[in-house]
Amino acid sequence: MARYTGSKCKLCRREGKKLFLKGERCFTDKCGYERRPYPPGANGQGRVKFTEYGVQLREKQKVKRMYGLDETQFRLFFVRASRLKGVTGENLLSMLERRLDNVVYKMGFVGSRQQARQTVKHAHFLLNGKKVNIPSLLVKKGDEILIKEKSRTNPVFVENIQSLGRKEIPRWLAVDGGAFKGTVTDLPVRSDITADVEERLIVELYSK
Ligand code: SF4
Repeated sequence: MARYTGSKCKLCRREGKKLFLKGERCFTDKCGYERRPYPPGANGQGRVKFTEYGVQLREKQKVKRMYGLDETQFRLFFVRASRLKGVTGENLLSMLERRLDNVVYKMGFVGSRQQARQTVKHAHFLLNGKKVNIPSLLVKKGDEILIKEKSRTNPVFVENIQSLGRKEIPRWLAVDGGAFKGTVTDLPVRSDITADVEERLIVELYSK
């Protein structure tokens, strides 16, 4: 399935929530959702009543869009999560959080998951000392991520490293901005995921 290349703010408006897809802009009054907090389109301001299926579908779309995945990638994650021990929905969220692009974003090295995906693809990071360019790779406890020496003057990293002090780093990650390094100190559990997500609805949708 082709990747969505349209307006990111429309995705937030469609889901009725801020998905924080545009970095710093999401925290300013230029935020598209803050300006127009209703779905896009001619009937956007009308009242919409969702069926049970519609509610489940919207929840799945929201999470898929938050992490910037297409349908095939998202479903593959769900299948992998459903094969693990434990609660499938929680496994799914934990796996999504452990994606390398998400981890780089949560470490504060970049401003958005999209920027994270691009910088990982362009091989700006070392994982445990080795070159890596796979955004979907899942990190493990103890993994170390380093911004490559010659990438440290890249304006994206300069700007984000400078603003690290203002960012909230999750419990399961440790970041040393001066050393351009982050460490996965633990694996994320459900309570670490602060986004407003009802994963139960996604499990119900895919279990039909
Ligand atoms: Fe969503 Fe607002 Fe960020 Fe646009 S600016 S992506 S509407 S949170």
